[in-house]
Amino acid sequence: MKGARRHDHSARGFAVVDGCLAIGGVPLPRLAARVGGTPFYAYDRHLITERVDLLRHHLPPTVHLSYAVKANPMPAVVQHLAGLVDGFDLASAGEMKTALDSGMPADRISFAGPGKTEQELSQAIAAGVALNLESAAELETAARIGDSLGLRPRAAVRVNPDFELKGSGMRMGGGAKPFGVDVERVPDLLRRMAELDVAFEGFHIFGGSQNLLAEQVREAQRHTVDLAFRLAERAPGPVRGLNIGGGFGIPYFPGDAPLDLAAVGEGLAGLAAEVSARLPEARLIVELGRYVVGEAGVYVCRVIDRKVSRNQTFLVTDGGLHHHLAVSGNFGQVVRRNYPVAIGNRMAAPADDTVSVVGCLCTPLDILADAVTVPRAEPGDLIVVFQSGAYGLTASPTAFLGHKAPDEVLV
Ligand SMILES: *Cc1c(COP(=O)(O)O)cnc(C)c1O
Repeated sequence: MKGARRHDHSARGFAVVDGCLAIGGVPLPRLAARVGGTPFYAYDRHLITERVDLLRHHLPPTVHLSYAVKANPMPAVVQHLAGLVDGFDLASAGEMKTALDSGMPADRISFAGPGKTEQELSQAIAAGVALNLESAAELETAARIGDSLGLRPRAAVRVNPDFELKGSGMRMGGGAKPFGVDVERVPDLLRRMAELDVAFEGFHIFGGSQNLLAEQVREAQRHTVDLAFRLAERAPGPVRGLNIGGGFGIPYFPGDAPLDLAAVGEGLAGLAAEVSARLPEARLIVELGRYVVGEAGVYVCRVIDRKVSRNQTFLVTDGGLHHHLAVSGNFGQVVRRNYPVAIGNRMAAPADDTVSVVGCLCTPLDILADAVTVPRAEPGDLIVVFQSGAYGLTASPTAFLGHKAPDEVLV
């Protein structure tokens, strides 16, 4: 683009330049040309940095910030975050490779998740990554592998608490769960751990995710820390790490209000002081995925066809749920609601056209936005889905219908 650019306004933290949304300062049509086509995911490096800065500003300085790699495992994103956060949490050996390649020290990395294979356990122990144990059987396997490698596995106990994080989109604790060790079984596990050649690291207690209410997050953190204090009395050694999960949500849908991070930070300051008094060797760890990267990413696809069927207008795109399952409402949502969308090259035009934006798959599930009012779009225009930096590409069934997978760029 030649001549002076007009900086119109911003949309969800991204600049708007000459009527076009800009990611990392690059207007979308130019970014699409650089990528070589649509669809693609684009993540804004600066917005990720800003988000970590915001967390650092509001959370007490003694809290360690860990990034849950599964939210967005793109190697460039993980590499960028390696210089910003204090640790990584992993859910597979594949993520472990990306995390170690980034230069994050192994003693700042933990590996959670049910069903870790012998191969994965062995790789993690060899790397010096801490295991978040999900069962008594996993402890036995880890100890045996440690013996055969001549290494002492580092292990924390992932606890399935006897309470739930209220208001979470996805509940991961409380009741009968495949995750973690039921709290009532933890004392036995700790006793067994003392008999084995395994280094006790601490506790990992993750109650759920996508919570937008500070009061509920604070309450869950309070309960989590109290539980850790009780369990610490039975521990075979000092608690070195206390991972209290995260659960910080981001606003996806109309009416969602952002989490009051300052209020969460205030609650955590009190807890951090108690933890350093009662568990002086413990790093207090907050583990976040979507809150760090979710709002820094967009999914971009192109309008292929504009068609009217029985008075309803459809924008048919080259994208779809095979790239972005969550936007179609099929990734953990109970009721499908629209993610925020825009016509990325018509940001300054009046929103006066009510359309449904669909993907290119032959299934009625393939909806990107249902009955949204946007500026009038034509074939060739760019559809943007906001809030797409977490659980996007890697949480989608990319093989479905055999289209090629979209590119990802960090700008
Ligand atoms: C998925 C997961 C997270 C991240 O959840 P977000 O909602 O993305 O913050 C954190 N901890 C564990 C154990 C997880 O499985």
